[in-house]
Amino acid sequence: MKTFNYLRATDVDVALQRIAVEPGARFLGGGTNLVDLMREGIEAPETLIDITRLPLDGIEELPDGGLRIGALVRNSDLAAHPVVRGRYPFLSQAILLGATGQIRNMATVGGNLLQRTRCLYFYDEASACNKREPGAGCAAREGFNRGNAVLGTSDACVATHPSDMAVALAAIDAVVEVRSSRGTRHIPLTEFHLLPGTTPHLESQLESDELITAVELPPLPVAAHSYYRKVRDRASYAFALVSVAAALDFGADGRIADVRLALGGVATKPWRARTAEQLLLGAAASEDSFATAAAAELAAAVPLPGNAFKIDLACRTVVAVLRRLTTERSGS
Ligand code: SF4
Repeated sequence: MKTFNYLRATDVDVALQRIAVEPGARFLGGGTNLVDLMREGIEAPETLIDITRLPLDGIEELPDGGLRIGALVRNSDLAAHPVVRGRYPFLSQAILLGATGQIRNMATVGGNLLQRTRCLYFYDEASACNKREPGAGCAAREGFNRGNAVLGTSDACVATHPSDMAVALAAIDAVVEVRSSRGTRHIPLTEFHLLPGTTPHLESQLESDELITAVELPPLPVAAHSYYRKVRDRASYAFALVSVAAALDFGADGRIADVRLALGGVATKPWRARTAEQLLLGAAASEDSFATAAAAELAAAVPLPGNAFKIDLACRTVVAVLRRLTTERSGS
């Protein structure tokens, strides 16, 4: 590991002033991804600014019924929060299906959004990788690509976004608050991460001098009737082959009155399934309508030889999750 300077920030403004004059610095939160990347030589910041003592670890109910989550809230604490479990259960489920208990105890909300892909070739310095080295090529395209993406891909990169939490946040229409010495910005979660295009090394809208300070959840009654399912190669400590975050509610006529749907494990960013949502809204809750909506969402998929199975798997998982939510509602 390359040597680096370390300093601990106790004030947000001081941390922002420091990174504004030191573009080679990185903020250190839980460190559960960044430190691994530094050990592998993939990230080599000149300076680490430890932000774990900053007062950004609160969860606050908002007057409109929403929730403000500090960027340094630990994943475990967010998953266990009674308001999250009651009003946004799929967010709690998504977090609990990510990583191990030890990692969830360390990992922060802000860091979760910024974790980097687990594409095998991204971590192998002997392999070509446009994300690690722009212009180098993409070894995954001709290599072992079983875990790579089918949606939102480009010729330059087919890496999946690894977060479970962010998939639920995409379905919720969460908003990311970021600060720099230039001011504060609010970015919808669905726009926060970038598609790879020709610049896969650029992964989010966050500028090098900006810090994620909070994530805000809007009031969303449909989210109380939600579920997150993660399909993976083993039952724990594995990234998703496919994941589905869904919330569903019905009108007095029995038709779907509100629906939120997002996919993980299949796309280069947390994937809000808006095409499927539009088809489901107002439809009868049936296997046919669920399957039609899922197929329409996956129609844009571009498979590789190793990951074509994800298209059918994603469709079947969407149907299974919507069926489960329908059964729960009709039984309540
Ligand atoms: Fe690198 Fe992206 Fe290709 Fe993986 S898919 S090797 S991260 S360019």
